[in-house]
Amino acid sequence: MAAISSFIALLTHRTRSNLTVNKCNTCSKRFKYKSSLKEHIINSHFVKKQKHICKVCEKILSSKKTLRYHLNAHHNKKEFMCGVCGLTFIAPYKKSRHRKKKSYFFQDH
Ligand SMILES: [Zn+2]
Ligand SMILES: [Zn+2]
Ligand SMILES: [Zn+2]
Repeated sequence: MAAISSFIALLTHRTRSNLTVNKCNTCSKRFKYKSSLKEHIINSHFVKKQKHICKVCEKILSSKKTLRYHLNAHHNKKEFMCGVCGLTFIAPYKKSRHRKKKSYFFQDH
């Protein structure tokens, strides 16, 4: 929820100086009430613009990939396996971190 409200604050920031008009910065549509503007932003722009939103915690992720890894973390889905020792990880970067760590002990790992 914090991510969405900060996104709205960013979009509505420039309209603050003009108290009579609640204008959408994205499509220039005007609204009588700030609440209607907020609703409009969420329904018309937010969903389309920020496609990679976690349905569980509403966190915005930068890409489809990172959203997938993020969701893997929620569901503890470890789909990336270390080919050497068989340990599983939620994201490939976690796996490479593991291999880097291990290399201190095993030079071929
Ligand atoms: Zn708009
Ligand atoms: Zn999440
Ligand atoms: Zn390993």
